[in-house]
Parts: sequence; structure tokens; C-alpha cells
Amino acid sequence: MTGLLAGAAAGGPAGALPANPDVAIIGAGSAGIAAARALVARGLDVVVVEAADRIGGRAYTESSLFGAPYDHGCASLQGPAGLPHLRLARDLGFTLHDHADAPDLLFVGDRRASGAERRAYDRAWDRVTRALDRVRGDVAAGSVIPRDDPMTATVETWIGPMDHGVELDDLSTGDWAASAEPARDYLVREGLGTLVARLGDGLPVALNTPATAVDWSGSGVRVETPRGTIAARACIVTLSTGVLAAGSLRFAPALPDWKAAALADVPMGCLAKIGLRLDGARLGLPENAYLAHAVSPPLPAQACFFLTFPTGHDYIVGYVGGRFGRDVVRAGSAAAVDLAQETLAGMLGSAARRHVVGGHLSEWETNPRTLGAYSAARPGRFAARADLARPLGDRGFFAGEAVAAPWIALCAGAHLSGERAAAEVAAALGAAPACTSCDARGRQRARLRGGEGR
Ligand SMILES: Cc1cc2nc3c(=O)[nH]c(=O)nc-3n(C[C@H](O)[C@H](O)[C@H](O)COP(=O)(O)OP(=O)(O)OC[C@H]3O[C@@H](n4cnc5c(N)ncnc54)[C@H](O)[C@@H]3O)c2cc1C
Repeated sequence: MTGLLAGAAAGGPAGALPANPDVAIIGAGSAGIAAARALVARGLDVVVVEAADRIGGRAYTESSLFGAPYDHGCASLQGPAGLPHLRLARDLGFTLHDHADAPDLLFVGDRRASGAERRAYDRAWDRVTRALDRVRGDVAAGSVIPRDDPMTATVETWIGPMDHGVELDDLSTGDWAASAEPARDYLVREGLGTLVARLGDGLPVALNTPATAVDWSGSGVRVETPRGTIAARACIVTLSTGVLAAGSLRFAPALPDWKAAALADVPMGCLAKIGLRLDGARLGLPENAYLAHAVSPPLPAQACFFLTFPTGHDYIVGYVGGRFGRDVVRAGSAAAVDLAQETLAGMLGSAARRHVVGGHLSEWETNPRTLGAYSAARPGRFAARADLARPLGDRGFFAGEAVAAPWIALCAGAHLSGERAAAEVAAALGAAPACTSCDARGRQRARLRGGEGR
């Protein structure tokens, strides 16, 4: 689906990498794709190198596992009202399900919460979020919330491990304050990963081409890959903080202390998905609903919460996160699928197990190209995100979900951060403003007019 480079890289003889583009982009996830689109629109010569054999990164839909599009990573298209994805999704005929007011079911043991329990739960949400909203500094979220309410542990589990990938004691209130309430929230029936891949249509991406080193010692940069070295005027690095901190991409000179410290201050949180394919049964549950069970201290709870039958597909998605999520990942796929089934059976009755015909655990924690789900600043260290975004001189730029405030950790945020980095690069290179008649989107529109769209 991407440019000639992708075809050559994925298949037989490796195609030659352009030796002297204006900009080399490292990583073809949401941020890298957005940066490339924006730079191509400005008439700059770009190459994107991607270690994997596909584009999209943590936006990844595949359809063979459960016989329907299944998002292994991001699934909810969340962000500001003017999201570029929305226009493109509509142009290309994607099916969007408005998920802003999703049903939110709560079980207590093997039954639905009573009216009084539900009110207590809603009150706990209100108290916890108001306490977090009141904080002005950057401290551990767990240190400012009231914990005297029996439903608080359940709310903490949603906000901490399930939303931010860490416990509230490990969550920076800076991250909380900098995460804007999304104005838009959609599920994409064809998969959010499919949509992100479409955004990369026609871009010059070299797949199976890991960057191994960035030499920024001279003017411009030299990006080393197993297929050769690219000498560019600037580069944009979009790798996760987990991958950058692991050091598999070498910098020469080494990253300055402030950048290395920032990477240590904003590690990756854990959110793992456990997909359960069902035989068509709905188990008495509505579609597109969040499903949680009340948990009790001590935390972290052994919690698996769910999204039911997204956009009508015959599967349920379990979520485990934070420290418990890491334990589940370590225990492996079979144990994780068993945990998700057991949790469902505990809520809905043992008959629910009979309807499960397949299961799968996502592998973002162990995948060397991600090494976690998404970034979470350590308490007191939110400001490190600004250092993550800070360029190396006038030639080494950074994008990705970790530098996407106020949409940190989101796919759409990563996209917007890519556009922001592209604007910085263009300014540094003295490039022309965006050219709407020669950009990737323009070409996509032309193809649609020619009947080659979906
Ligand atoms: C389980 C899970 C659920 C999520 N749910 C949601 C959700 O519902 N909504 C939402 O908005 N967000 C969600 N997210 C977060 C979202 O997926 C990410 O924020 C976003 O996709 C990150 O995009 P990115 O471009 O910053 O990074 P990535 O997608 O990680 O892109 C970086 C790319 O760099 C490549 N790469 C790595 N090393 C190298 C190298 N050495 N050389 C070249 N390429 C390299 C990687 O393969 C990858 O393609 C979820 C994430 C996970 C894991």
C-alpha cells in the first residue's frame, strides 16, 4: 500500500534507499506517517525507514485471527474535533461508530451492580476525578485522591492500569492534567489500524529497514540501516520511549544527558489486550459497552475489564494493565486467555466459557519495536516530556505519542505530533509552506476520483 520502496523492501531484492533525501523519518507509525505526509505536502524529499514488515506501528488491524478486523493496538479514535482521520475515514467510506457515550456496565461478583452500588461507583468517579483536577503541581495521583470509598479501587483501576498503563501511585498528575478530554471518540469497524495504514498510502516507506544509528555530528544527519546509509538534512525520530531508552538506536554523539534523563523519566506503561472470539453468542451483553467488575484493595487488583463486541464483531476485548498486566504478559498467552475467560465466567456464569472459540494476547510489551503500550511520566517528572520533544540542534527532531500533549498516549496525538515535528523541520530547512495540489492527500483524492478507492 505504500510507495515503491515498501514493495522492494518487503519482497525480493532490496531496492536502493534514496541516498540524499531532505528528511529521513525513523518509524512508520501514526507519527511518522503524519510527518511524512506533511513534509511531502511541502515539496520536501522524504524517506521513512520502518523496522517492521508493515506500516502503522501500534495502530495495527488484522483480520485472519478472529475472522473480522481486530485492532491489536489502538482501537478508539479519540482526540480533538478537527482530527484529520475523520475526514479521511469518511472520504474512504470507513464505518465510524460514535463511542463517546458508550454504555459502562459494572458487575459486583456474579451480578449487575445494584442501583445503590452504581450510585456509589459514580460518586467515586466524581470524587477521584475532582481531586485530580484540583491538583496544580506534579505529584503521584495516588497521593491526592480520597480512598475512603469502597468503589474507589475500581475507579483507580480504570484510570490507572486500564487508561494510563500504570497504577495511580505511579501516575503523574502532570500527565493527568495534560490529557485533554477527547472531543471525539469513535470505533472504526474496519479497524483504526487499517485507517492509519491508509494514511500512509503512496508514501516512500522502506519496510524491514531498522535504523541502527543516527550520526548528527556534522551538518545534517546520517541514518544507518542494514540497507545502507541515508545522508539527510534532518531526521525525525518517532520511536517509543521504551525503544529509545533500550539503546538499540545508537546516537553519535550520544544523546545529551537531558535527553537520556527524559527517557528515563517517561517510561512505558503496560496495557495488554486479550481478545476472545465468540461463536456469535452475545451473552446477554450489549455491543460496544465497557464492562468492569468491582475490585477491592489491596491494589493492584487482578482485574481484567472488557469492551464488548466492538462495532458488532463477534469478539470481546479484555484489558489488563499496569503491574498486574505485566504479570499476565509474563505468564503467557494461554494463561492470559484463561484469565479473561475466567473473569467473564465469574460475572456471567460458567456457561459463558462454552461460547469462547478463540483467544489472543497482544505482544506490545515484548515486541522489541515498542517495548510497552504507551508512555507514562513518573510522578514529578511530567516536564521531561518537553525535553523528549526538544530537537538535537537544527537536525534531529522527535515526534510520537510521548510528545503529543494534550493528546499523549493517543494515536491521533501521535499524528498531530508528527505534523508539529514536520513544521519544525520545514522551518529549520527553510522549506516552502504546504502545497495542497502535490501532497499525499491530493494524490489520494485523485485516485478516488479515478475509482481506485475502497
Ligand atoms: C494495547 C494498546 C491499546 C491502545 N489503545 C488506544 C486507543 O484505543 N486509542 C488511541 O488513540 N491510542 C491507543 N493506544 C496508543 C496508540 O496506539 C499509540 O499512542 C500510537 O499508535 C503511537 O504511535 P507512534 O507513531 O507514536 O509510535 P509507533 O506506532 O510505535 O511507531 C513507531 C514505529 O517505529 C518502528 N520502529 C521501532 N524501532 C525502529 C527502528 N530502529 N528503525 C525503524 N523503525 C523502528 C516501529 O515498528 C513502529 O512502526 C493503544 C496502544 C496499545 C499498545
